[in-house]
Amino acid sequence: MNRTHWVRSIVCATVATMLASAAPSHAYRMIQNFNSGRQTSGSQVTCNDPNGFTHWTSANTNWYHNVSNQGSGKDATLYNAMNVWTFVLGADHSLSYRGRTTAGFTTDGINAVSWGTGQGCSGSCLALTALVLQQPGQVIVESDITFNNAVTWTTNGSNYDTWSVAAHEFGHTLGIHHTELTSTPYPTMRATYFGSDARTLETDDQSAIQCSQGTYPPSLSCIPDGGVDDTLSNTDCCSGVAVQGSTYCTNPADYGTTWASCFQICGSVPTGSCAPSGGVDDTLSLTSCCSGAAVSGSTRCLDPADYGTDWTSCIHTCL
Ligand SMILES: [Zn+2]
Repeated sequence: MNRTHWVRSIVCATVATMLASAAPSHAYRMIQNFNSGRQTSGSQVTCNDPNGFTHWTSANTNWYHNVSNQGSGKDATLYNAMNVWTFVLGADHSLSYRGRTTAGFTTDGINAVSWGTGQGCSGSCLALTALVLQQPGQVIVESDITFNNAVTWTTNGSNYDTWSVAAHEFGHTLGIHHTELTSTPYPTMRATYFGSDARTLETDDQSAIQCSQGTYPPSLSCIPDGGVDDTLSNTDCCSGVAVQGSTYCTNPADYGTTWASCFQICGSVPTGSCAPSGGVDDTLSLTSCCSGAAVSGSTRCLDPADYGTDWTSCIHTCL
């Protein structure tokens, strides 16, 4: 099989019948492309391919949103889609939402999400990602996402779900191609749309970004606001502050003892005693937003089990 395009299509693929026992548990693939400049396709290779694959050299990617057409009211769902990748434990890539832009699906040094037509994504195409590559080395220096504006985009989980498709496209921006895994639960990087279950990553997706960073360890001076830092201070938050109460240990026995498997969310430098507009605040109101309000729908939790329960590891973005 040699799929080269990253277009997310509405058309359902015919899934070959195969014995469950023959299906690999991991089948993530990476994007390989030796051309320079703007690219919207690439070969689908394994993470250990001897010729390598596309990747960033920095751990932090700043994103901007052009709200023209259907972007209004989609900011929070984009935060959440970025965050599923930022919150992969054991991988240090942080995707940060940096506000609005008039930039679009063009090479200009700005990583932009936009809503358009006639940008290589029309008809059954839902969305398309471009990577700007520097050679040699398959280094990603910019990425843009365009959503097909002819499609009706929602934030409530019905078709077509912005969060789900954005999470898939942000995976492409990290150099991840479509998975070969055909069994359920479907990975977010499945080539064809399968509804709002794609909002959360599967192990196959998480393994892809972990393997990418293991192969090309990114330069990492500090973790941006809203990113995930290790509690043991192998790295540090750029702001110098962690969100109160956000510490989460994958092995609960480490909490208060070795802290070995523990992580925390980096907070924003407070303005006085409150979090500034665009900053990160804890959901439990140990601190609060200076504006008195958070962006609707922007709450996300380092431990997904906290969402809607005790909210301990959850944050939101201040208006
Ligand atoms: Zn895709």
